[in-house]
Amino acid sequence: MIAPHIGTRGMSLVADALWIDAKLATFDPRVGAAFGLRDGWALATQGERIAAILPPNAPELRDFREPVTDCAGKWITPGFIDCHTHLVWGGSRASDWELRLTGVPYTEIAKRGGGILSTVRATRAMSEDELVAAAMPRLRALAREGVTCVEIKSGYGLTTADELKMLRAAGRVADEVGVEVSRTLLAAHSVPPEFAGRADDYVSLVCDEMIPVVAREKLAEAVDVFCESIAFTVPQCERIFAAAKSHGLAVKGHVEQLTNSNGAELVARHGGWSADHLEYLDEVGVQALAKAGTVAVLLPGAYYFLRENQKPPVGALRDMGVPMAVATDLNPGTSPFASLRLAMNMACVLYGLTPEEALAGATREAARALGRAERGGTLEVGKQADFLVWDVTHPAEIVCQLGHTPLIDRVRRGKVPPVV
Ligand SMILES: [Zn+2]
Repeated sequence: MIAPHIGTRGMSLVADALWIDAKLATFDPRVGAAFGLRDGWALATQGERIAAILPPNAPELRDFREPVTDCAGKWITPGFIDCHTHLVWGGSRASDWELRLTGVPYTEIAKRGGGILSTVRATRAMSEDELVAAAMPRLRALAREGVTCVEIKSGYGLTTADELKMLRAAGRVADEVGVEVSRTLLAAHSVPPEFAGRADDYVSLVCDEMIPVVAREKLAEAVDVFCESIAFTVPQCERIFAAAKSHGLAVKGHVEQLTNSNGAELVARHGGWSADHLEYLDEVGVQALAKAGTVAVLLPGAYYFLRENQKPPVGALRDMGVPMAVATDLNPGTSPFASLRLAMNMACVLYGLTPEEALAGATREAARALGRAERGGTLEVGKQADFLVWDVTHPAEIVCQLGHTPLIDRVRRGKVPPVV
């Protein structure tokens, strides 16, 4: 049962603002109803926090004057959290996509100057200001659909200076749009051309130079790796995780996307926040995630754009109680769309999640994937007042009906900020 009294004193409500007669999709598992529904309840905020969640006709509501928003039965969900993006980049990979559609393999595309290293070249060539300007429309698009918190990775710089430039740009674009950001150092995204054939030396640069400076300058909360046959090996990722943890940074990984490299076990062994992609995850990996409490982040956009056939083992993850988050993976090469609602839709249509699981994956479980379960992801007293008011008759419409956004208000930390 939710303790409703933090924002009350005796019978009077201590709050700055009140939303009444709402269908609150709290996603609080203790509520015990689908979507954690509190039907017709009121939500009060004080400062940046949710101060009270009260049933209709609660005596505390009687004397509260202004400002009161009558939701007239509309739905309120927690603010959306996109917990896996690469939204700062330079250049375009649309011509890669054109080639891929005609059957040209990735190796050939890379040989012709495309692929991830083309994004690295373009990103290195841009200034921090130019990267901010390029990323703004992408984050604006996410915010207009209700995103209040976003994760942004580096990983297209691959030198210390360029990785730092990306992380600074990520912080600035989030501030300008009015979205909370969780930044991640993904220097182990690809071996840069100047280290071709010397991946271990590059890993040393990541461990000995990049991670210490990023930790010292507080430019990231976590360190990510691409653990894959075409990227970094388990022992290399292990070194990076050890360095990250010794500098107080969380860890996570792109794992089991194209092959099974036992990357999920590696992330679980290090108590990682999340293991992401997971198309080739096996039963041992599922068990490792379940035991560690690591979140499985599903990224159906990349699966769709790459026209893959191998799906993550959603049934096994569900059966074993592994929390499943859903994110856009917004990036120029394999998931070039800025819509968390589309990612949720794909998670349902392509991977078989229920709309409730998809919405939980973009709220409660995404907060967990970013180490924010204590302060975000659900509508609970004491948590950050990040929530969305929707003109829908059922929350499944948010996931099902694409092409327009029935969002009425996007409240972040108790305020309705304009999306810049
Ligand atoms: Zn990614």
